[in-house]
Amino acid sequence: MSHPIAVVGAGLSGLYATWLLQQAGHRVLLIEARERIGGRVLSQSPSAAGHRLDLGPSWFWPGMNPRIEKLLKQLGVAAFPQHSRGAAVVEGQDGKIHKHQSSWEQSPASYRMAGGTQSLVEAIHAQLDERVHFKPQTRVKGMQLRPHAVELSLQDPSGEWSQLAAQVIVTVPPRLLAQDMALEPAWPDALLQDMRATPTWMAGQAKFVAAYPKAFWREAGLSGNGMSHRGPMSEIHDASDGTGQSAALFGFVGASPSYRAGIGQEELQRQAIAQLVRLFGPEAAQPLWSAVQDWAQEPLTAAREDLRPLSYHPMYEVAQLPSAWAQRVWLAGTEQSPNYGGYLEGALEAAEIAVSHLQRSLPNLALHSAPLAHDEE
Ligand SMILES: Cc1cc2nc3c(=O)[nH]c(=O)nc-3n(C[C@H](O)[C@H](O)[C@H](O)COP(=O)(O)OP(=O)(O)OC[C@H]3O[C@@H](n4cnc5c(N)ncnc54)[C@H](O)[C@@H]3O)c2cc1C
Repeated sequence: MSHPIAVVGAGLSGLYATWLLQQAGHRVLLIEARERIGGRVLSQSPSAAGHRLDLGPSWFWPGMNPRIEKLLKQLGVAAFPQHSRGAAVVEGQDGKIHKHQSSWEQSPASYRMAGGTQSLVEAIHAQLDERVHFKPQTRVKGMQLRPHAVELSLQDPSGEWSQLAAQVIVTVPPRLLAQDMALEPAWPDALLQDMRATPTWMAGQAKFVAAYPKAFWREAGLSGNGMSHRGPMSEIHDASDGTGQSAALFGFVGASPSYRAGIGQEELQRQAIAQLVRLFGPEAAQPLWSAVQDWAQEPLTAAREDLRPLSYHPMYEVAQLPSAWAQRVWLAGTEQSPNYGGYLEGALEAAEIAVSHLQRSLPNLALHSAPLAHDEE
């Protein structure tokens, strides 16, 4: 086969699909619009020496996430349980703080990865060899079916160009695909409407993280768990490393994307630190480092429809492509996972399914790659 297989998106799903294809002996062109790998996975460090804090996903659930567990073992990425020992604090709308002595142990217990979730995507990336050509800062703007291939319209900092691929696995969230990609021949309206109605999990969310010289809340008998009806954060947790020596807190910002955009990130950080002082005491006023990651302001994660807050975990369904495309293009990404949609585990499940369908289609491809009527220009 002369053209490579293309994988679009180097988030967890795209990286894993690429690695599986490489293991099956394929040449792969991995195309990513951002400069970095990871997509929604992003861990940052206050300093070169500090531990990395998760600005995207932090948790996985052993026993419920078999692929993640297996992969971490295989790649030698260590994990540790989420700290939740000690009392929790709840802030009422009136600003009153209530202490709950019993800790909120998550059930089932959640675990975090040493070095942040980015350790997992970096470990997969490190497995890729010369059979994989990685193109960062390259956006797929469209896909056209050609007689024996798919033509990808690409844009990188040097301009626009196109690339033929024998087959394509697209891991871009469905809403972004429907919103941003030109498809020729067009996909049916009903399919595009379904894709636009499929929320990009957590894309409307923002996270605040703050690193401290020590876990002063633990010394005061607090777990670091907090809930607030006042905000701007609605839910807070300990984000220290596995030893507890490198101390940090993180919170999900409950305030809406439009409120966040209105006040700006500097003011949001100021409000979040003031909230931590209310909940955990004056030592919270002086973080070593703090950051806000507003995913709603990331056009390579959040589609326009994702800016409306989502208060439930959607049921995700695998999209069925029109038959002309079905042997050439496969959708992956966590929103295509039948059992774990939205989660890291789902990004792996969807990648596995897409790669296995692609592999199964190979013997039939010659049959299906006869010129299509609409391509005979
Ligand atoms: C704040 C937050 C907290 C979360 N917490 C958890 C958690 O604790 N546990 C959990 O299991 N899950 C959690 N999640 C969900 C988890 O992050 C996702 O399930 C997972 O990262 C999805 O991976 P993916 O590869 O499917 O998609 P993505 O990571 O979105 O990857 C898609 C990739 O496609 C790229 N792309 C987009 N458009 C184009 C284009 N046109 N051309 C080329 N490339 C393109 C993007 O840049 C991106 O790299 C959280 C998510 C967020 C945002």
